[in-house]
Amino acid sequence: MRSVPIRGKKHPLAIGKMLCLGKNFAAHAREMGDSGKNQPVVFLKPASAILLPGNPILLPPFSGNVHYEVELVVAVGKTGKNIPEERVTNHILGYAVGLDLTARDLQSLAKQKGEPWAVAKGFDGSAPLSEITPRNEAPQKIEELEISLRINGVIRQKALLSEMIWSIPRTLAYLSTIFTLERGDLVFMGTPEGVGPLHPGDRMEAEIRGLVSVAFEVTGNQFP
Ligand code: MG
Repeated sequence: MRSVPIRGKKHPLAIGKMLCLGKNFAAHAREMGDSGKNQPVVFLKPASAILLPGNPILLPPFSGNVHYEVELVVAVGKTGKNIPEERVTNHILGYAVGLDLTARDLQSLAKQKGEPWAVAKGFDGSAPLSEITPRNEAPQKIEELEISLRINGVIRQKALLSEMIWSIPRTLAYLSTIFTLERGDLVFMGTPEGVGPLHPGDRMEAEIRGLVSVAFEVTGNQFP
């Protein structure tokens, strides 16, 4: 069982499932060879993929091309099914910034063969996460904030959250028609353009300005 700290709270949030959107920024969809006009895709990561602040990123031995993807992460605080868009806010506990690390070589192979992305997206350490900022401490209009990722001090990804194709209310409302959203679930909202490979020694600084930030270091490779 993985738990993520909530800023200012004594007890962390025990994490259930992690639902992720792919291609929720048109410019990123295009850099992945997509038209940018299709609907976002949905996939899952297991909670065992979570990596908390203070722990090193270790690259897995079965991939030669692990990519970073910085994302807004929405934490669910209240269980719901078929949640109407206008009631989604009541189900949100808070927000974090996370990295959807992706074994791009394995994902490309899986896409070619029409196979699932479980290995490419769900391996240990593939979800480095910040603490959660509670909703009542977050700015009112989350989607007006800027998300960014610096690697070794250089900006690699930067966008306004308003560029997301599916908004937070639309995404959670839609997901709740398929999966009961339970307290402790996390929703990764998709990455903007600028994804690329990680290397041992890289220092990553992920930030949603005015909301939350976190830093991680890639210290090396996992042993096979
Ligand atoms: Mg992603």
